[in-house]
Amino acid sequence: MLVTKLKDKDTLVSLITGKAFVINCHGCKEVGFPEKEAEEFQKELFREGKITGVLTTDYICNPENLKLHLDMRSKEIDEADCVLVFSCGVGVQTVSEHLETKRVYAACDTFAVPGGQGVTPLEYDCKQCGECYLNLTGGICPLTACSKSLVNGQCGGAKNGKCEVDPNMECGWERIQRRLAMVGRLDALRCPVQIRDYGNEVDAAE
Ligand code: SF4
Ligand code: SF4
Repeated sequence: MLVTKLKDKDTLVSLITGKAFVINCHGCKEVGFPEKEAEEFQKELFREGKITGVLTTDYICNPENLKLHLDMRSKEIDEADCVLVFSCGVGVQTVSEHLETKRVYAACDTFAVPGGQGVTPLEYDCKQCGECYLNLTGGICPLTACSKSLVNGQCGGAKNGKCEVDPNMECGWERIQRRLAMVGRLDALRCPVQIRDYGNEVDAAE
């Protein structure tokens, strides 16, 4: 089981430099979503004219389903400077992969809570770490895309783009750098080291 919580409002506002297209995932019901808080925040954005459109659907972690929805809303997405996704970390990664030249931001943090995981086949993985880094890493999870789960950049061991731990996989941090370059956000790599609060996980489970 997992639960998502809205990120701090000031953090979200700082991400939206122009207009945003909003995606809400009201998918698997074993996931707790902050639907009411998200709706209130989105109403504020609407009043300020900062939203080009809203897509509310389920299972955005299903790539085929997501592609159909995104294709239908391509005009509103093109008009937006970024896409703000209210979902767990898997959903944000799926959107980010489909819109790889667009800035895609996670509006929520994802926390693990006790209980079984659903049976949805997932293309991307989220460790439900409680402090989502996707807004700094171009929508690629450093905890699952890097063999060492490094959150502060590349270890330096990659050879020809392959991970030094598992030569069958691409170095996650090289993927992150490429994605950030594509969306003009290489500056994100210059941000000061952010100390993680692993206590977040415990808080959510209590
Ligand atoms: S950084 Fe990765 S593990 Fe943490 S919430 Fe985001 S997608 Fe999940
Ligand atoms: S080579 Fe890349 S993916 Fe592998 S451990 Fe180092 S930084 Fe992580």
